[in-house]
Amino acid sequence: MKSVQPEVFLVSRPQLDYQALAAYLTEVGGEGWLERLDRGDLDDAQNLAEFAGKICYRAWEPGLNPNVVRVRNDHQTYLENILRQAHGSVLEHAMFGFVLHNVSRVATHELVRHRPGVAISQESLRFVRLSDIPFWFPDWAQGDDELMKRATALIGQMEEFQNWMAGHFGLDEQGLKFEEKKHKTSFMRRFAPDGVATGLLWSANIRTLRHTIEARTDKGAEEEIRLVFGKIAEIMRAEAPALFGDYTVEDGAWIPRWRKV
Ligand SMILES: Cc1cc2nc3c(=O)[nH]c(=O)nc-3n(C[C@H](O)[C@H](O)[C@H](O)COP(=O)(O)OP(=O)(O)OC[C@H]3O[C@@H](n4cnc5c(N)ncnc54)[C@H](O)[C@@H]3O)c2cc1C
Repeated sequence: MKSVQPEVFLVSRPQLDYQALAAYLTEVGGEGWLERLDRGDLDDAQNLAEFAGKICYRAWEPGLNPNVVRVRNDHQTYLENILRQAHGSVLEHAMFGFVLHNVSRVATHELVRHRPGVAISQESLRFVRLSDIPFWFPDWAQGDDELMKRATALIGQMEEFQNWMAGHFGLDEQGLKFEEKKHKTSFMRRFAPDGVATGLLWSANIRTLRHTIEARTDKGAEEEIRLVFGKIAEIMRAEAPALFGDYTVEDGAWIPRWRKV
């Protein structure tokens, strides 16, 4: 058994093409908006959200749309108003990709209940063989000697059975067809515990991130997924503070000021 810790790596974030934006905005008389923007590395997600919002009303400058006589020029205030008004659809343009590493099938099974605004590519245990069983024990469990002794013995036995089956099915023998390996590896995973640590690339847009952070750090949520979403929330608050700065954190629960955006 390999003792592991769930980890989160942010591996992708939105990137704006400011030249293309400038070309479009010149067409519609909105260059002034672009000139006022901060364009640091971490600003693209927030800038994209503001762009998506402003395109709806042609709100680059007052008067471009005769119905708009006043525009919000302050980026923070503009985005706060998006959250307050629950205009969350503009947040769907910005996707972030996270590798969730060493998370259990318990956590991934709960994660896939969140459907809109996500993309998932999960390690396939039909293909990837379990020679050792990576497993996370929370601190409280690690402090319980008898529990750890029995749990590690049980997992050791499962590992031993995995290795026995691999030999029994001749998975490492030369010439065994890949289809047959896949067939047997898929059978073998049935004897792995739900807590086996695995990994996936999970991408989500900002609207979905706000919803899942709230739901999955809730005090009633499962402890591993709370841990993972606590990490995701910390990352997102640093990445897009104007869109994740309204949360208060109480005992690990991230409670947004603006709900159901
Ligand atoms: C603490 C906790 C305990 C849970 N316990 C259980 C349990 O005991 N048993 C169980 O089965 N599940 C349980 N769940 C899972 C839960 O029921 C939801 O399936 C999961 O949280 C997905 O959230 P969601 O329904 O908001 O959907 P998401 O897929 O995250 O969708 C986000 C939002 O989009 C909208 N939406 C999405 N799909 C539709 C649709 N088809 N039609 C209309 N609107 C839609 C809704 O407004 C929804 O809130 C639990 C979840 C949590 C956080």
